[in-house]
Amino acid sequence: MDFRFSDEQEFFRASIEKMVDRLIRPRIQEIDEADEFPHDLWKELADLKYLGLRHPEKYGGMNVDTITSMIFYEELARGACGFAMSVTMQILMGTYFVGRFGSEEIKQRVLVPAIKGEKMGTICFTEEHSGSDLAGTRTTASKKDGGWVINGRKIWITSSPMCDFCTVLATTDPSKGLEGLSFFLVEKGTKGFSSGQTFAKLGCHGSVTGELVFDNVWVPDENLLGEGPGNGLKYTTDILNEVRVMTALFACAIANEAMSDARKYALDRVAFGKSIAKYQLIRVKFANHWAWYEAARLFAYKCAWMIQEGMECQYECMLAKMFATEMCMSAVDEASRIYGGNSFAMEYPQQRFFRDARFLLFGGGCHEVLQNALGAAYLRKE
Ligand SMILES: Cc1cc2nc3c(=O)[nH]c(=O)nc-3n(C[C@H](O)[C@H](O)[C@H](O)COP(=O)(O)OP(=O)(O)OC[C@H]3O[C@@H](n4cnc5c(N)ncnc54)[C@H](O)[C@@H]3O)c2cc1C
Repeated sequence: MDFRFSDEQEFFRASIEKMVDRLIRPRIQEIDEADEFPHDLWKELADLKYLGLRHPEKYGGMNVDTITSMIFYEELARGACGFAMSVTMQILMGTYFVGRFGSEEIKQRVLVPAIKGEKMGTICFTEEHSGSDLAGTRTTASKKDGGWVINGRKIWITSSPMCDFCTVLATTDPSKGLEGLSFFLVEKGTKGFSSGQTFAKLGCHGSVTGELVFDNVWVPDENLLGEGPGNGLKYTTDILNEVRVMTALFACAIANEAMSDARKYALDRVAFGKSIAKYQLIRVKFANHWAWYEAARLFAYKCAWMIQEGMECQYECMLAKMFATEMCMSAVDEASRIYGGNSFAMEYPQQRFFRDARFLLFGGGCHEVLQNALGAAYLRKE
């Protein structure tokens, strides 16, 4: 066994760390308070080629391995969480299906500008009546005139008002439930495609989230992504492992930021004549966090390695995401307790860690849904 990152991966981490420290971290509070998408930072990341992290070089990408991409996500999450969310949406889910299944013409028209940061992409699963339960998808796609007509409304879509293209999950055969789902590419400017309201959010400020509306949107056959129709669920599970490990590393980054910040506070703050860092009930918070953080991070990178090696790791990725999320919930809670009343003040960062972390409970799969599936899988074990 070898638990070290390669020299190239260490070098890559150091360069991302520097970039995040220079470009993003000085802007965290400003982005959180303004709650506006920082287009200039988007452009900087595109110029550095990071938006093409997972895509082949011939389309302008960097084509890095899975572990290296996870290093990027983890470092990015130390910056503004909402912005990191929008960026990872573009790198992973937003462009994944176009990169994997799009025709050469679609790749040139959509993927190449997306990697350059000139076009923004997103993914649309969630609807008013179905989030976790994809079998409840009511957006339909019906065969017509050498193509498909899409009707429906998606909610909670990252980058919705800014997106130039989206991958939409729709049912081509409602009688088949999960086996009737397919992905379609819909581009801005297509008749009947529009963006609806945006949502004011608790956390992850700087990302814009809202509705996308499909009103008799006709797309040609080539916009059905992948073989099909009916393979939407299969293709979803192909990408979910990566999404879950990425979310686990977001959790590690937020937790570490919250506790590192609380550490400085504990060392400075005096109560009853001594530093609060001298009290055992404060120390135990750091001890517990340290253990859980190391375990969560190690588990997440083990999963990244398993994905990279092409190993079956669906349950491991769910476990890693669940564990890291729990670790993060505990860390942001304990860190805010260390801050006492100041944890409630908007001028200190603890309130932001607390707000941003809540997203981890449903991003990449709701906590309880994962627990339900994992519990059932454990009971099936020999
Ligand atoms: C900031 C943000 C950005 C997002 N971006 C996107 C995006 O870009 N694209 C997109 O498609 N979606 C996006 N989402 C939506 C997100 O993916 C959904 O919120 C998530 O899938 C959960 O669905 P839901 O909210 O409908 O909750 P539900 O599925 O209705 O769940 C409600 C509760 O019931 C529990 N529950 C449901 N089923 C089970 C079960 N079988 N066993 C046990 N408990 C269960 C859940 O755990 C949860 O506690 C975003 C959400 C947010 C907040």
